[in-house]
Amino acid sequence: MLHKVSEIIRSRFPSEESIFLHEPRFWGNEKKYVLDTIESTFVSSVGAYVDRFEKEIAKFTDTSMATAVVNGTAAIQVALRLAGVKKEEEVLTQALTFIATSNAIIYNQASPVFIDVDRDTMGMSPKSLLAFLEEFGDLREDGCFNKLSGKRIAACLPMHTFGFMCRIDEISVLCAKWNIPMVEDAAESLGSSYKGKSAGSFGLAAAFSFNGNKIITSGGGGVIVSNDPLIAIKAKHLTTTAKTPHAWAYEHDEIGYNYRMPNLNAALICAQLEQLMILKNSKKKLYEEYESLFKGVGVQLKAIPKDTDWNYWLMSLEMEDRKERDKFLDHTNSQGIMTRPIWQLMYRLPMYKSYQRDDQQNAEYLEQRIVNIPSSARIVS
Ligand SMILES: *Cc1c(COP(=O)(O)O)cnc(C)c1O
Repeated sequence: MLHKVSEIIRSRFPSEESIFLHEPRFWGNEKKYVLDTIESTFVSSVGAYVDRFEKEIAKFTDTSMATAVVNGTAAIQVALRLAGVKKEEEVLTQALTFIATSNAIIYNQASPVFIDVDRDTMGMSPKSLLAFLEEFGDLREDGCFNKLSGKRIAACLPMHTFGFMCRIDEISVLCAKWNIPMVEDAAESLGSSYKGKSAGSFGLAAAFSFNGNKIITSGGGGVIVSNDPLIAIKAKHLTTTAKTPHAWAYEHDEIGYNYRMPNLNAALICAQLEQLMILKNSKKKLYEEYESLFKGVGVQLKAIPKDTDWNYWLMSLEMEDRKERDKFLDHTNSQGIMTRPIWQLMYRLPMYKSYQRDDQQNAEYLEQRIVNIPSSARIVS
């Protein structure tokens, strides 16, 4: 089985010695736009590409305004702060995620509470969220409080794993009912949508990442999007040192951040955004080839969940158990085929072991079994 799986993956990337998990592709205007910033000298914190990108990404994600920032983690951090997350409050999120999700909560001096995921979407489970709220939620005039800790539940932060959409409409309804602002960690899901609605357009605000391993990249970068004009304006203000507009005076009305995306990076992401649909289609083709080739080999390609129009970001297999998983990882990596397990659950890490969590049945099931396989876009002839 292992040998066959390796063969299938290798056959999809025949010209590559080492096959990586997810490589960036610069097939369009990337060089042209980046050179343009150098020739114009506008490489830093002011420039036309930042403005252009913000307009285009807002339009693409069907949100009203976007603020480009230095990375996805900073985008989550600021989005949470704008949702009202403060010191000694709590944020409901999932333990099955990349560490940045939890770190962004801690940067606001708040605590994560880990809610289980669904097995099919690998994202936050509305069932588990409801069970948690029914047991611990205390809805008061000034918000929802956790009966166990006494702390205010200031936000809910679901994440769309590998671009699969979690049951975000149900989560959104629950959050509204319990008066909890929802922020989407949409870092992995640019180009995905749920029941026809774009990732990032469901909550009060959302964060995307353009790190080098994501579906499109600015080298490093992120964006905060929102449909609330006030949140959007504040996002721009806070991430640009909270400077009030003036012809020459240094007036700042609070302690902001220097989180602005440089124009150099914005140039790259403008060109990448033009390529997004081409990349998505190429990856779709790869997924469909995997689907037909893996049939009958005895491994389970993770299926696209119902209601998701997927961006095909990172493809994954579900192994029988942890032992099979480790054998698979050893074999493929020794063959020059890069594969990786899904993340360790956050509470396995010493920094996050003491935060409240529910039973985590599905998260633990997936943690043992899910592996990512090479998912880069290829030139489609
Ligand atoms: C990549 C990623 C982030 C963070 O993005 P950076 O741009 O690397 O800071 C946050 N959350 C998830 C789920 C991610 O995959």
